[in-house]
Amino acid sequence: MAKLASKSNRTRPQGKRGPVRTAKTAKARSKAGRRHSVKPVGTKVSGKPPVAAPKDKWVYSFGGGKAEGRTGMKDFLGGKGANLAEMAAIGLPVPPGFTITTGVCTYFYANKQTYPQALKAQVEAALLEVGKIVGKTFGDPDDPLLVSVRSGARASMPGMMDTVLNLGLNDKTVEAVAKKSGDRRFAYDSYRRFITMYGDVVLGIEHLLFEDILDGHKDRHGLKLDTELSADDWADVVERFKNLVAEEHGKPFPQDPHEQLWGAIGAVFGSWMNQRAITYRRLHGIPESWGTAVNVQAMVFGNMGETSATGVAFTRNPSTGEKRLYGEFLINAQGEDVVAGIRTPQEITEAARVISGSGRPSMETAMPKAYKELVRYSGVLEKHYRDMQDLEFTVEQGRLWMLQTRNGKRTAKAALKTAVDFANERLITREEAVARIEPASLDQLLHPTIDPTAERKVIATGLPASPGAASGEVVFSPDEAEQLKAHGHKVILVRVETSPEDIHGMHAAEGILTTRGGMTSHAAVVARGMGKPCVSGAGTIRVDYAAGTMSAGGLTLKKGDIITIDGGAGQVLVGEAKMQEPELSGEFATLMGWADKVRKLGVRANADTPADARVAVKFGAEGIGLCRTEHMFFEEGRIRSVREMILSDDETSRRAALAKLLPMQRADFVELFVVMGERPVTIRLLDPPLHEFLPHSQAEIAEVAGAMGADPKKLANRADELAEFNPMLGFRGCRIAIAYPEIAEMQARAIFEAAVEAGKRTGKAVKPEVMVPLIATKAELDLIKARIDAMAKEVHKETGVRVKYSVGTMIELPRAALRAEEIAQSAEFFSYGTNDLTQTTFGISRDDAASFLGIYTAKGILPADPFVSIDRDGVGELIRIGNERGRKARPGLKLGICGEHGGDPASVAFCHEAGLTYVSCSPFRVPIARLAAAQAALGKGGDRTA
Ligand code: ADP
Ligand code: MG
Ligand code: MG
Repeated sequence: MAKLASKSNRTRPQGKRGPVRTAKTAKARSKAGRRHSVKPVGTKVSGKPPVAAPKDKWVYSFGGGKAEGRTGMKDFLGGKGANLAEMAAIGLPVPPGFTITTGVCTYFYANKQTYPQALKAQVEAALLEVGKIVGKTFGDPDDPLLVSVRSGARASMPGMMDTVLNLGLNDKTVEAVAKKSGDRRFAYDSYRRFITMYGDVVLGIEHLLFEDILDGHKDRHGLKLDTELSADDWADVVERFKNLVAEEHGKPFPQDPHEQLWGAIGAVFGSWMNQRAITYRRLHGIPESWGTAVNVQAMVFGNMGETSATGVAFTRNPSTGEKRLYGEFLINAQGEDVVAGIRTPQEITEAARVISGSGRPSMETAMPKAYKELVRYSGVLEKHYRDMQDLEFTVEQGRLWMLQTRNGKRTAKAALKTAVDFANERLITREEAVARIEPASLDQLLHPTIDPTAERKVIATGLPASPGAASGEVVFSPDEAEQLKAHGHKVILVRVETSPEDIHGMHAAEGILTTRGGMTSHAAVVARGMGKPCVSGAGTIRVDYAAGTMSAGGLTLKKGDIITIDGGAGQVLVGEAKMQEPELSGEFATLMGWADKVRKLGVRANADTPADARVAVKFGAEGIGLCRTEHMFFEEGRIRSVREMILSDDETSRRAALAKLLPMQRADFVELFVVMGERPVTIRLLDPPLHEFLPHSQAEIAEVAGAMGADPKKLANRADELAEFNPMLGFRGCRIAIAYPEIAEMQARAIFEAAVEAGKRTGKAVKPEVMVPLIATKAELDLIKARIDAMAKEVHKETGVRVKYSVGTMIELPRAALRAEEIAQSAEFFSYGTNDLTQTTFGISRDDAASFLGIYTAKGILPADPFVSIDRDGVGELIRIGNERGRKARPGLKLGICGEHGGDPASVAFCHEAGLTYVSCSPFRVPIARLAAAQAALGKGGDRTA
């Protein structure tokens, strides 16, 4: 068993072995890593509209420069089949074959696992046609056609049956292949592969058992590598494999090629309903009714010696977007040897080989002709699909064959670069480039990196698997990562390699470090999808799970020690490194510029502090849509004055406390206004329930009483008085200003005086917008507005400076939306506070929703959490009513929203449709909102529900 582990080792130091596992899981993992577990970013397909399948046509042929199928037929040919047909049709060298439609799968399950009547004849005919093109006949004992059987659903889906290669081989045909090719070793190598794959995926015999036999043979003959085995060795192994099958399966290995073929086809359809596939579909919302297609294709052989190879490539670097073929290949290998980790693959380009320092040749030098063709086809395919492609290919005796293409998954960084490059190369328009980027994915780009001036104590180097940098405590187990995260620790998950069982730990970690695995390993792919930094394959690090240590560069670190990983450079550093903010120039700026040109919706930020405001401006916010003044009240050194103010039971002492707060509040606003310059700044008057500010402990009460010269007992009583059963519907919002107008007056004074001051400092006209929260009636607003206007006049008189300001209100109660017409007679702007509006519309307490909202979405009662993505039907209708009625009274009424929804792409799309003036969201989501607003203007995203 230990042998198995060493077989799948790429970068691990000699003699050190990680946990032993079967080759089967190794493959499943690397496949999962390469392909799945991650939401594709920016892979929206351009192309022809879907085509409906004609009745009773179950088989579509391709090859020989023609094809019956096309990319637009993915629904019934599956992604793989449709693209194979497309490649064949545009003249690329694709081994001929045919696709059995997804309709057969649907039929199969609707009809007690039987096939449509016409299928058999259609398959036979298609097989003959394939044979004609390659000049061989399926099952022919002298010159047999061999095929692969490949599954392929509409969406790439793990859990489906693995591909079976070399089907059609049996005891007779293997000899024919040996004779025809003049290479008996090749024939038996192919046969043993076939028996293993067929035995594993069709007959359900554990892969491990085959591996054990192979290892036994190697041990007996003192052989190490597969490549050292001779034809006789393989023939011997094949005999043992067949015995194993007979034993395990109770029947001999099927010799009839037709039986083999139908066995494999049945296994593909059968795998549609296996547990793995069912689970994956549930997680990704793929309907069961879609079904999978089956592709049967003539074999080409990458295992015919030194002039043959198999490989995978991206047309551009999927991590950075750099325009250069990027991938791996293996000489004298077949199928998925490249990703299964059996041997270390080689680089495709010479440039990549130089960077890796590998001693083995790149494809560019080893197979220059095939390489040139690959480069050419990669260009052809990019032009054709108008997107970056992920390719699979095989070289048979120097001749290149294309075996798969699809739009490549990529990091957000690469998605951005490829979209901008494609537009600049005129392959797509700028609008298409804007439409291609998933707004939420921008998040990945806004990560910090290591400050270039920081000292780097590099202890190991691996692959730059996912960009960004992170520091944290070393942990070795995903469970521990989760626990520590729950206790507020920042951790870096360090593993030999990761598997799907580790996802929770990867989520909890700031970054992921593995000692084994490449750019396409599970850790790398999943981390990129999560937008977390990852260094993979740092092979000089030795991890000792049992001891809880990792050692590298002569250093041994324990669990809990701090390291930093740089996922952009592939470095592992000891200690915490100084970080710097993300780079927002380059392609990011270009694309955001294009987005800004098309969007109609304004984007502002919710920012309470000058620091937030600076980030907001950097991210392109056009103003502040919400500044919550209470955050200033909670600060150290202020809360005591706030408490004095609240606990005062007469106006005089309240004014005394407020007088202490005024200069602090004013200073905050000055700074904020200076940062924002002429951009509008909406400041909300004190909003939260007063009880949130109250002292709780005896000691705190005594402290406040001391400062006020008041009786602690009396104060405690007052605190009790202010306690509420339902604070969110209690003494809060404008109700505070109605009861204690002096609070609103102090805040208004602070705003206007600060505006005057900031205006003097910057020479720019500050534009404060004073916002009154939680209005239900016009009368409330009128009372408070009168105080604000009076204060503006007062400050004008005192300073001689007139500040241009406006007074508006939040609409966050259904009544306010319904009475918008009269409220707008007084309000100069509306801002929908969609958090509260959702609470009050549903009557659901946001803070208590966790216990039942999940059930609601699971049962399909609500399509999504309405606090995350706006409820278009209910809350949305109130917004539309508010807009309509508000604008009736005041045609130019400015309408915005400030709530978590402002940064949710689907909600932004709604805001665009509803005709709002702007959205306001947290500073880090500003770029997301800008892009989402642009996509909404381009007519995209409106139908997105979650
Ligand atoms: P997956 O969906 O897991 O990627 P594929 O059906 O693409 O599986 O098959 C995996 C690999 O098997 C391919 O990348 C290719 O290397 C090999 N393969 C499939 N069909 C053929 C064929 N007809 N000739 C040679 N190799 C093939
Ligand atoms: Mg597959
Ligand atoms: Mg494939």
